[in-house]
Amino acid sequence: MKVLVINAGSSSLKYQLFDMTDERVLAKGLCERIGIDGHIKHTPLLDGKAVFDEDIPLPDHAAAIAIVLEKMTSAESGVIADMGEISAVGHRVVHGGENFSASTLINDEVLAAIEACIPLAPLHNPANITGITACQAVMGDVPQVAVFDTAFHQTMPGQAYMYALPYNYYEQYKVRRYGFHGTSHRYVAERAAAMLGKPLSELKLISCHMGNGSSVAAIDGGKSVDTSMGFTPLAGLPMGTRVGDIDAGIIEFLMGKENLSIGEMLGVLNKKSGVLGVSGVSSDFRDLEDAVLEGNERAKLALQVFRYHVSKFIGAYAVAMGGVDAVIFTAGVGENGINDREAICKNLGVLGIELDPVKNQVRAKETDISAAGSRGRVLVIPTNEELVIARDTREIIA
Ligand code: AMP
Repeated sequence: MKVLVINAGSSSLKYQLFDMTDERVLAKGLCERIGIDGHIKHTPLLDGKAVFDEDIPLPDHAAAIAIVLEKMTSAESGVIADMGEISAVGHRVVHGGENFSASTLINDEVLAAIEACIPLAPLHNPANITGITACQAVMGDVPQVAVFDTAFHQTMPGQAYMYALPYNYYEQYKVRRYGFHGTSHRYVAERAAAMLGKPLSELKLISCHMGNGSSVAAIDGGKSVDTSMGFTPLAGLPMGTRVGDIDAGIIEFLMGKENLSIGEMLGVLNKKSGVLGVSGVSSDFRDLEDAVLEGNERAKLALQVFRYHVSKFIGAYAVAMGGVDAVIFTAGVGENGINDREAICKNLGVLGIELDPVKNQVRAKETDISAAGSRGRVLVIPTNEELVIARDTREIIA
């Protein structure tokens, strides 16, 4: 069975085609500048097939899907004989609100429920819906499945998801913590159980997804019991360009001082803050490390702020769960950031967790990097959200 996985952004569309008999990726690619002019990079992963990397008009997402299918089946870059080989499409959908605690087959009712979540994720859900409707238009009645970033965190108890606001805001508007990166946290938790040779139901895990966007999740017995992102993905850790948790009083104060509209203020919090804001250098952790080597004090401070907050969440979640068996590092920074991991783990001895600095010299490879005597483990696990989407899709249509 072949499953196409789609991650649609407002002007982009990422895709991977899986052969689910052995979970192999047959082709992957990225359409960009959709609705502007258009570019596609299609990479077949079969011998003898050519990469296609060119500007090509992409007026809308349906045009992008059509060209993706054309490339998938072409003589030069194709990996399947015809579109009929694709049994189903799995879509990443950012926000499922309280409606979805698991992946689901898309029908009119589900699509309406995803639409109803647009106010909760105004930047992401409309793009995800566009990806779904484009596939429906081009692929007819091939089954489509939605896999939600929020679903995994629906197991959080009220004490973790309630904001201490007047209760009616929760009742009327569903203002609560939702959490994101759920697909990634779920994947690495399952891999951690396999690496540790223990059932997930017996493990207390803290998963640190550290990339451009970052979040920490407390996973007790395979269930998310708390996570650092909130009502939106702006909360929790300081990130590449997002501020993370701040005192809400700062918003009005700065709007007054700088004469900013609420839209402009949110732009600052989402796009000009985080390690970019503190350092003034970059949102990319590699650039920050280079700047530190050149003696840039603000880049050093930005990294310290980020790492300090990750360790604080680890401490908090160890207490929330009454223990921790393993800390997991994943995503771009988690998988590659050797110095980040070392600094974050520096004070975890109090939790019985110690990192081995030699084993820590690893990038993007499943590795146990704990010191020999460490009671809790430290694991590097490359994430694979696309594979989770493909697996859920296969299960749902089976
Ligand atoms: P992601 O959002 O998961 O793709 O992560 C992207 C981030 O990972 C980039 O902004 C980089 O800061 C970081 N990253 C990627 N490779 C490395 C590396 N070798 N060392 C440190 N950070 C890295």
